[in-house]
Amino acid sequence: MRIDSPGTLVAEVRWAQAKKAVDVRKRLDDYLNMVERQAKKRKVPFTGRIKPSEDWQGALEFNYRADRKVRGFIRQCPHCRRVVIAQVSGDKDDAVVNVANQLLDTLQDHSEDGWWTWALLGLAMRLPERFALVKSQVMSGYLMLQFRNRYTEVSVERWGLADVTLKRWTLEEWALQATEWKRIRAQHMLGEVERHPAVHLAGLRRSPTTWLRRKVERIVLRRPEEIRGVVWHCEPSNRIYSVRVERGTQELLEQIVASVQCH
Ligand SMILES: [Zn+2]
Ligand SMILES: [Zn+2]
Repeated sequence: MRIDSPGTLVAEVRWAQAKKAVDVRKRLDDYLNMVERQAKKRKVPFTGRIKPSEDWQGALEFNYRADRKVRGFIRQCPHCRRVVIAQVSGDKDDAVVNVANQLLDTLQDHSEDGWWTWALLGLAMRLPERFALVKSQVMSGYLMLQFRNRYTEVSVERWGLADVTLKRWTLEEWALQATEWKRIRAQHMLGEVERHPAVHLAGLRRSPTTWLRRKVERIVLRRPEEIRGVVWHCEPSNRIYSVRVERGTQELLEQIVASVQCH
């Protein structure tokens, strides 16, 4: 992940999942040797040093200066075994050390409660960690993230300009026509989400596979076929939100809906 500032400061975080304990000191030496070799090639003076971090337990702190000033950290987490390298770089007048320390204060390499936070352009939600992102879509006025865990699928969507949309349709009409629900004969009910007007929907998955396969999935594998969802209108943000859970529980749907910060 790389985050640019309007100026010359850049923050970068790299991470990888390791199965065993890795020698972070060796990885860091390799990395700094590479930077030094590149600096030499360009005839830029290089100075660097490594020391144990005082703020982040078990981490090594590194500072170097070539054509840019850099402060960073490397650590392998003893719990999740992820190896994380975080660094901030900038020109000689940039507050590199300050920003690097702030970054470190907020860095978490694993979730404490088994739920992960996912966010895209202000659309934030939490899902159990076993869910993986399988699809995403970013368009002007529309965002979509889709997740899967075995046969359970979750999609979260957000539309802008709700006032324009809701001039033509009621929320109910729109939920049934414009969303994925149009392909399913859904039952719907009006309600509320966080005091916003909402449509609660439920239907059965119309599987594209064969009749036999559906029977096997339902009877032998006991896979649920239900699709549940909520579409709500958040007036303060002028947006419409939708959360859909295919082949998952009502409880999961409610937990995800509660985790979406709509305004
Ligand atoms: Zn961890
Ligand atoms: Zn809201």
